Amino acid sequence: MSNLDPAPQPVTLAPGKAAGPAVHQAPGVLEARKAAVGDGTEVRRLLPQRTLRTIGAWCFLDHYGPDDVSAGPGMQVPPHPHTGLQTASWLFGGLVLHRDSLGTEQLIRPGELNLMTSGRGIAHSEESPARRPAVLHGVQLWIALPAGERFTDPGFAHQADLPVLRAGDATVTVVIGEHRGERSPATVYSPLVGLEVTVPGGAVAALPLRRDFEHGVLAVDGPATVAGLHVEPGLMAHLPTGPSSVQLAPSGGAAGRFFVAGGEPFAERLVMWWNFVARTGAEIAQYRSDWAAGRFGEVSGYPGEPLAAPPLPALPLRPR
Ligand code: MN
Repeated sequence: MSNLDPAPQPVTLAPGKAAGPAVHQAPGVLEARKAAVGDGTEVRRLLPQRTLRTIGAWCFLDHYGPDDVSAGPGMQVPPHPHTGLQTASWLFGGLVLHRDSLGTEQLIRPGELNLMTSGRGIAHSEESPARRPAVLHGVQLWIALPAGERFTDPGFAHQADLPVLRAGDATVTVVIGEHRGERSPATVYSPLVGLEVTVPGGAVAALPLRRDFEHGVLAVDGPATVAGLHVEPGLMAHLPTGPSSVQLAPSGGAAGRFFVAGGEPFAERLVMWWNFVARTGAEIAQYRSDWAAGRFGEVSGYPGEPLAAPPLPALPLRPR
């Protein structure tokens, strides 16, 4: 997934200094911004927010679909670079083909995780393959790498065998991290959890939480009640650190799915611009010229040209 905004605003993060009103110290429902990625895929961007830049090290969350992609190009995100992050791709429906500058070519299906570690730099593309199911529905998340890991070697992992557990009425897939003693094989570099939770219609699931984690709970495919808050499909409830469990209940009559992203509050300042995560504006400018000069390597096989980076904003990029 790529940020295709032609004039992306820099996003800076300063832990302990909220950029806006301190509205996120109690549970609340986050707004979503519509954004375009690739050739016609519209997403709802839930992170970053002006007043909430990260949830744990999760620093970017796009939710897309369900979209009928039986006609037209489907998802077509041309080659583009990343730095300083991991991308986690997770589908609720459909099929996506990932290619990257390490030579990886990997299909992803629902219930499987594609986890790409950019480290100091990688390029990738994502596309709907020609033969595909009609409906595409998923999330893409970015995880900021901590200082000690952000220049690590780039890597790619496909995890098709994730722990799935039953807890009362709920079914939980442990995508990232650990839940009720079950651990995902995915490698991450800060205390983090990512779960897909399915709850039958009419049921209420009590999901245990780590009290030192903050969490976002996305209502994936129907209205729901999360920690007593009404959440429309495609929106996310934010839960600050503290509670030891949260109640999840689909409210539309049918079964409901949730994606839970949580982690220990991320203590480092970041500068995010376009598809780069860095610490200074000078690093961002360097990454931009590295991409223009072809220093991220080539993504073979994508039927189209790589994305060009937008112009840098006039004001210098600084972490606040
Ligand atoms: Mn991407």
